[in-house]
Amino acid sequence: MIKTLPRAKSLIELLIQHGIADNSVLEVMGNIPRELFLPPSLSHQAYNNDALPIGQGQTLSQPSTVAFMTQMLRAHMAEFSIESPKILEIGTGSGYQTTVLAKLFTHVYTVERIKALQFQAQRRFGQLDCYNISCKHGDGWEGWQAKGPYDGIIVTAAAVTLPEALVAQLNDNGCLLIPLGDTKQTLTYVRKVGQNVQQIPIDDARFVPLIQGTII
Ligand code: SAH
Repeated sequence: MIKTLPRAKSLIELLIQHGIADNSVLEVMGNIPRELFLPPSLSHQAYNNDALPIGQGQTLSQPSTVAFMTQMLRAHMAEFSIESPKILEIGTGSGYQTTVLAKLFTHVYTVERIKALQFQAQRRFGQLDCYNISCKHGDGWEGWQAKGPYDGIIVTAAAVTLPEALVAQLNDNGCLLIPLGDTKQTLTYVRKVGQNVQQIPIDDARFVPLIQGTII
């Protein structure tokens, strides 16, 4: 039996129906107040399985997508017995996915190109007592080399091509989860097994674009 906030109960049941079987992911998502990551006018929709606008033309990802990517990341770490994985997220946005990761992994590094979003997300991390998150305002195409290499990298915006810097910042046996494509996107699982990089398509995806170059 998973303990959740009463208002998150039906969302968690829905995630289970969607095939999320990792109880740690379900428990963490069932206890984060998702309304905190939304503009107040949308808080009544916080526990729907929807992507929702967070301003600046960006969206908070759909809960089933957050759960699926987090579950994959944890399964990868279990497969390779990586005990204290170092995680990098590209696209902090509202900070919701970052918070989910921070509750499950030792330390999370996160990069956002829009300063205003990063600022709001950092305030939320403080409110929720998440002190194991490091934030950077920058272009995630370049990753965050100074803090790498990483055991897991998760990109929450779609890239037209695979950013080479991210692959280069993966540890041996690390993995990168990234939506690839433009109008048609595919969530892709990139595994670095030793020096060998494998690219495995997982599922159709719909994310806002990963924008290269300028930061605002
Ligand atoms: N994980 C977020 C999803 C936000 S949407 C959440 O849970 O709310 C994707 C985010 O990626 C947006 O905030 C967008 O500004 C950011 N983004 C787009 N291109 C980027 C880049 N090159 N570097 C860093 N962040 C980027």
